[in-house]
Amino acid sequence: MKRARLLVMNSALPVLDYRVPADMAVEHGSVVIAPLGPRQVMGIVWEADRLPGEEVGDNRLRNLLQVLPVPPLPAPLRRLIEWTADYYCASLASVARMALSSTAALQGGRTMTEYRLVAGAETPKRLTPQRAAALEHLQGAQGTLRELAEMASVTEAVLRGMVGAGLMEAVQVDLDRPYPPADPAFAQPTLSDGQQAAADEMVEAVKAESFAPFLLDGVTGSGKTETYFEAVAEAIRRGRQTLVMLPEIALTQNFLRRFEARFGVTPVLWHSSLKSAERRRAWRAIASGEAQVVVGARSALFLPYPRLGLIVVDEAHETSFKQDDGVRYNARDVAVIRARFEKIPVVLASATPALESLTLAEAGVYKRIILPDRFGGAQMPDIHILNLIDHPPERNHWIAPPLVEALKQRLERGEQSLLFLNRRGYAPLTLCRSCGHRFQCDICSAWLVEHRLSKRLSCHHCGQEQPMPTACPECGESDCLIACGPGVERIADEVAQILPEARVALVTSDTLNTPDKVAEFVSAAENKMVDVIVGTQLVTKGYHFPDLTLVGVIDADLGLEGGDLRAGERSYQQIAQVAGRAGRGAKAGEVYIQTRHPTASVIAALAANDRDAFYAAEAEGRRSAGAPPFGRWAAIIISSEEEAEAKEAARAIGGTRPHLPDVMVLGPAPAPLSLLRGRYRYRLLINAKRSAELQKVLREWLGALTFPQGVRVSIDIDPYSF
Ligand code: ADP
Ligand code: ZN
Repeated sequence: MKRARLLVMNSALPVLDYRVPADMAVEHGSVVIAPLGPRQVMGIVWEADRLPGEEVGDNRLRNLLQVLPVPPLPAPLRRLIEWTADYYCASLASVARMALSSTAALQGGRTMTEYRLVAGAETPKRLTPQRAAALEHLQGAQGTLRELAEMASVTEAVLRGMVGAGLMEAVQVDLDRPYPPADPAFAQPTLSDGQQAAADEMVEAVKAESFAPFLLDGVTGSGKTETYFEAVAEAIRRGRQTLVMLPEIALTQNFLRRFEARFGVTPVLWHSSLKSAERRRAWRAIASGEAQVVVGARSALFLPYPRLGLIVVDEAHETSFKQDDGVRYNARDVAVIRARFEKIPVVLASATPALESLTLAEAGVYKRIILPDRFGGAQMPDIHILNLIDHPPERNHWIAPPLVEALKQRLERGEQSLLFLNRRGYAPLTLCRSCGHRFQCDICSAWLVEHRLSKRLSCHHCGQEQPMPTACPECGESDCLIACGPGVERIADEVAQILPEARVALVTSDTLNTPDKVAEFVSAAENKMVDVIVGTQLVTKGYHFPDLTLVGVIDADLGLEGGDLRAGERSYQQIAQVAGRAGRGAKAGEVYIQTRHPTASVIAALAANDRDAFYAAEAEGRRSAGAPPFGRWAAIIISSEEEAEAKEAARAIGGTRPHLPDVMVLGPAPAPLSLLRGRYRYRLLINAKRSAELQKVLREWLGALTFPQGVRVSIDIDPYSF
């Protein structure tokens, strides 16, 4: 009798033994269906040829039911799943789920039914409001009835009715429809000498087919993308797959265009909002090896590429590579581990690397490739520090007079400007002038932010919204609500006041929430239909507008509040990146940084354009705090809907803390957001020497404790903020 050990999905159980029926062939990594209690679940064959075991007698084993018609998960990926679960103290199943994406993606046949509006169908004279909504929201959309119903906020029954009435139609999507092949010789660029040398190093590494981590450290506008594209071309020539990870979907449009210009086709896209048919099709092409180049968010990292030959992590310093729910992992770090298991090169590209990456490069663990100059002789911009104490803006304004002057000059010269403030909405706090009432989220410890465009108050942590009230709910007064402080919407208003003739584009995730809107903005900016761009961190990276010659940072101190140990680095990166948007073409750029603390080390380093000075100061601070990369941190987050329950559990964990020379436990204390989505949160921080066996300590410590049902305890290894 054959038995197999299975990693069972939808279960916190580790691995379970099953009997393999005589007529069934399984191998390591096969994806199968198995019985679990009364249910049928999906599983991955973790060991295909188990010997008869003591624990469960042969006669008590249950039969595997079916092998799914997809390629088995490759060995390096199975190893990656084990490594990730172990390192981040997560369950194997929770990590493996990321490889299988959605279980539905694997089942079913080669085609799938989707629906869309019938093009050119005559609109009936009398429409129900639901049908009208569907007609309005589903223009150009295609998906399952369920997906479309969600998009249009109607029920599936409404859409089925529309199918019956001939307003919508079914389409069969072929899930094995091939992706057109990329041509590595489609449009080869002429590289500068420096770029060529950099490209050669990466191309050689792709040819060598062995593990090689690179830090591609090039100033903004140096042509990092152009350069790593040569390594991608080599992987394509060798029939190997490439994964390019981008930190956010807003950057993708720009990337797709450049990829198409270089390789003649667009790459395969992977992100969380893919519709199910596109997701299934992409998954199958990836798993079969047909997908040559995959561009995706962090979730693309765990997909089952059978012939991976290269991984690129672009803007590798970006915080969105760190996932903060479910499996709390850092995709940048796991990418390097995957490359090691796959025996392939991995390129971390950034103009402002994380101190961790830079330190590894300086230690020779990563190979460092430096591109010190902007492409085409473009100069780095001039930086001016604007001390707001010496140059106060007018009352209820936020742009200081010298920056106002500079904006006016740009407008006269027909050049573009960019103002950066990392805060969505109109004002971060609304209060009542007559009674002092402040608008706060009732399930988070956070103020509600006024969004004047949508006329709503919104919580930026849980997403809850309410219409903007006209009267104070506390005292009943009307016309008494005042907006305190600026968000980008308010800055855009201010620009419209001081430069009434300027064309202003507001760029935030509220205004640029679909790929079409991003494309529309980019083409407007490129065609000089925009004079002033006002935006959040969304505009800080990726974009290349040659006529943009002025960047203003409205509040450089914003990111430094809060005392987070990473605040300095994050602030530096954001400001350096946004400054990097200025003067990328033939015309020189200028940057104004508004601050109240001109001597802070971040600001001083930016002013002197002295990156090394910043990193040296940052390293010193981290070393003395025992912070990464010199020491390690982990967080334990305890939450419950009952405050007392959370507090009690946190106290119980704190009370059993280990006493070890190389591990220090701080807390428990209320977490930075002590109430989030209705859950009260406490936190313990663990600081360990690099040599400590941190994960083992945590597992033994927490594994010995039990908690009430409503309590959630999660471990965050290498937390992003601490
Ligand atoms: P980075 O990612 O380092 O900021 P990019 O790759 O975006 O830089 O390059 C900046 C600009 O310079 C882009 O518009 C890019 O197309 C252009 N560029 C860079 N290198 C070359 C080259 N060798 N030939 C033509 N254009 C280039
Ligand atoms: Zn909230």
